[in-house]
Amino acid sequence: MRVGTVREIKNHEYRVGLTPESARELVAHGHEVWVESGAGLGIGASDADYTRQGAKIIATAREVFDGCEMIVKVKEPQAGERAMLREGQILYTYLHLAPDPEQTADLVKSGVTAIAYETVTGPGGQLPLLKPMSQVAGRMSIQAGATALEKAHGGRGVLLGGVPGVMPAKVAVIGGGVVGFNAAQMAVGLGADVTILDRSPDVLERLGIYFEARAKTRFSSTANLAESVAEADLVIGAVLIPGAAAPKLVTREMLGTMKPGAVLVDVAIDQGGCFETSHATTHAEPTFVVDGIVHYCVANMPGAVARTSTYALNNVTLPHALAMANLGWKAALKADPHLAEGLNVHAGKVTFEAVATELGYDY
Ligand code: NAD
Repeated sequence: MRVGTVREIKNHEYRVGLTPESARELVAHGHEVWVESGAGLGIGASDADYTRQGAKIIATAREVFDGCEMIVKVKEPQAGERAMLREGQILYTYLHLAPDPEQTADLVKSGVTAIAYETVTGPGGQLPLLKPMSQVAGRMSIQAGATALEKAHGGRGVLLGGVPGVMPAKVAVIGGGVVGFNAAQMAVGLGADVTILDRSPDVLERLGIYFEARAKTRFSSTANLAESVAEADLVIGAVLIPGAAAPKLVTREMLGTMKPGAVLVDVAIDQGGCFETSHATTHAEPTFVVDGIVHYCVANMPGAVARTSTYALNNVTLPHALAMANLGWKAALKADPHLAEGLNVHAGKVTFEAVATELGYDY
């Protein structure tokens, strides 16, 4: 099969669908890989890096779209890209169609077979193609929080790990799922005094077994949460209620109980945020201050570490891309019901129930 990847054109998107190493893997299985010139520059991969791995560099996105049977991307296709899709072609990327009627209509009209990363499932019902981005955001939240705690960034001038003779900072992580676990790992590694709050007994037990005495776990009741937030130098918001907006767990009133210059990092901002005072920010201006408390609320945190994020994403997307290239999409989806969950649009029809219901398509 001829597989193509193009330069991402969404604002501030630096990731790329296929790394040079992924291209090599496809080539090694007998496929042809076309890469738009410059597609890898955002992750530091030159055209020569791709040709060394056996890919062919193509001057324009138009030629890649026209010439390839499968397009592997990161972000949903933008309007100009959607106009280049056609019936019989496979589009494999993040789509997030439910809140995007315009994109859905264009994909339906194009006749393309669109497989969405975010709805591919794993054996336990989890979403393995979203997980690496949560891992990245969780780990990054501590870096972002540590920087925001510096005086020059409005913070209270506290070093997370302290130094010999000086107490470490207190970090409260609200939500002990993928983001929270990775945040706690980083904070513990830096020597901070870490408490993880969750409402799930199973999650608390798993965290307790993993961290032993290196981090505390605490049931996320209203009273416990209020106390942990008031004591913290850094609070990480990492809750998720599947299919719902994030609950506002830290109210404006609670900011008054916190130490001036303490920092809130709201990773859940892509689901509306779990702090009442949060609003989405960008990497260009990531923080703002409310009542003396520094807020970091970047909605696409993994974008700042595009290289790490791209490699992490390719680790989980490549096996499915290979399966579809090797077997054809139909046989690959038949052989793997988890990949089949990724099919969102095919031959002019919405094929994913939640999207069809949300946007009023027949299913
Ligand atoms: P997850 O499902 O793995 O974990 C969520 C955890 O929150 C679960 O353990 C759940 O028990 C817990 N929880 C639910 N209600 C709670 C409450 N009231 N108090 C304490 N804990 C509670 O989800 P995840 O992958 O860790 O993602 C967390 C959030 O981060 C999501 O909103 C996700 O979309 C977001 N995210 C944001 C970025 C970004 O760039 N900002 C990147 C990746 C993920």
